[in-house]
Amino acid sequence: HRTGFAIVGLGRLALGEILPAMGKSKYCKPTALVSGDRQKALKIAAQYGIKESSVYDYTTYDQLARNPDVQVIYIVLPNSMHADFTVRGARAGKHILCEKPMATTAKDCERMIAACEQAKVKLMIAYRSQYEPNDLALIKMIRAGKLGKLRQYIATNSQNQGDPTQWRQKKALAGGGCMPDVGVYCLNAARFLSDEEPYEVQATIVQPKDDPRFAEVEASCQVIAKFPSGFVATFNSSYNAHKSQFLRIEGVEAFAELNSAFAYHGIKLRYSKLIDGQEIMHEPSIEEKDQFAEEMDHMALCVQKNLKPHTPGEEGLQDQRITDAIYESARTGKAVKLSPPHAPTRSP
Ligand code: NAD
Repeated sequence: HRTGFAIVGLGRLALGEILPAMGKSKYCKPTALVSGDRQKALKIAAQYGIKESSVYDYTTYDQLARNPDVQVIYIVLPNSMHADFTVRGARAGKHILCEKPMATTAKDCERMIAACEQAKVKLMIAYRSQYEPNDLALIKMIRAGKLGKLRQYIATNSQNQGDPTQWRQKKALAGGGCMPDVGVYCLNAARFLSDEEPYEVQATIVQPKDDPRFAEVEASCQVIAKFPSGFVATFNSSYNAHKSQFLRIEGVEAFAELNSAFAYHGIKLRYSKLIDGQEIMHEPSIEEKDQFAEEMDHMALCVQKNLKPHTPGEEGLQDQRITDAIYESARTGKAVKLSPPHAPTRSP
């Protein structure tokens, strides 16, 4: 039995990853499209066997309320649009799967959580890494104590972001530059690997004045996050460097790394092991799975079995709160304290 998804926003991610992953999923099917470009949407609808009557635009979006083929709305729009489309989708009585970053302000995240609670619909943020097999194997190793007590983490997520006219380069639409877009993967992984929340962040940003790509948003961001157990996460992100994606986590007994990390494909877990006093790198063989299919199947099962998603709105809100603190630290040059989240951010 497959749960019907409406895909909102037919940009690069929706067309290149999400719709193709539907075919690899076990419990999902695309049943509606929402786009500002009707010709494009009709063509894609035909390709995926979606009815013409299930193609909407941003003004007719609310009519999804009357479409019984749709149980979940998957929001794949520019970041600042996530909040309004989540609230409207919840009011239409549909469950919401929303792309990362959840929104551009903590207030919007709170508004999204409240709207979904009020409408009694589920809200999940599409943190695909938390459904990816190598990440899951690493979490399992850490929880089983294989690394010993965690001490440090280092990660980077960088790419050259070219076009100065793209919404990602506009503060109002993106909320920031590389930090909320790609740096959020490093931040989220530090939290889900350690299963702790930072109490303090210290950060800097680089924003070259002579580059039109960075008129409104930062080019790179460097963060040190401190956690209650003494664990410290250091991570970088950039829109101004060649693609580079990596994480390493160090415990007292061993270290482990994902190289690459955060990517759509080719994620590889390796860890150090002491054998007869010799340090060797071990690479477990882990079957590659489509992260988008895994993530969407999780949402579909939560709907079918009435469970709270593993990465609910609270998880996105917490990353937004920390992102706000990161920018405050970069602005003031001071470490910024964080209070613990008000509610659990992940469910089992
Ligand atoms: P994109 O620019 O390729 O697509 C965005 C879509 O929104 C386009 O079809 C565009 O027409 C539409 N749109 C509607 N109103 C718009 C407006 N006012 N300005 C600009 N576009 C508008 O972007 P994308 O890369 O597909 O990203 C969409 C969302 O998905 C973002 O929130 C992004 O952070 C997220 N994303 C997540 C991943 C991931 O790995 N999970 C990867 C890429 C993007």
